[in-house]
Amino acid sequence: MLQLMTTKRIGRRQFHFTVEGKNFHEVVAEYDRLSFTDVAACGICGSDNLDLGSRVAQGKFKYTSVKCRDCKADLTFGKREDDDQTYFLRRKESGELDWRPFEKKAE
Ligand SMILES: [Zn+2]
Repeated sequence: MLQLMTTKRIGRRQFHFTVEGKNFHEVVAEYDRLSFTDVAACGICGSDNLDLGSRVAQGKFKYTSVKCRDCKADLTFGKREDDDQTYFLRRKESGELDWRPFEKKAE
């Protein structure tokens, strides 16, 4: 097994991920699946107090997101339709990251 370590900076925090593969191609392919960019600050309030979060909606839809701990805005990771292990950060049509302000949702 080959391993490759990568670091993602989310706000003021750093997250270290180790991916594995049987050979160089596979380990790079696994690394590619975490192809999202670093996120410097909240797109709503500008805070760098960001964290990662996950939730499951209706018992089946799994969401992973970057959360702002100050204003509770949320930037959800998308998954590729043909490969649900490949994550990217959702963007608006304008190309900006798709930050959503916090709103209380009825469950
Ligand atoms: Zn914020």
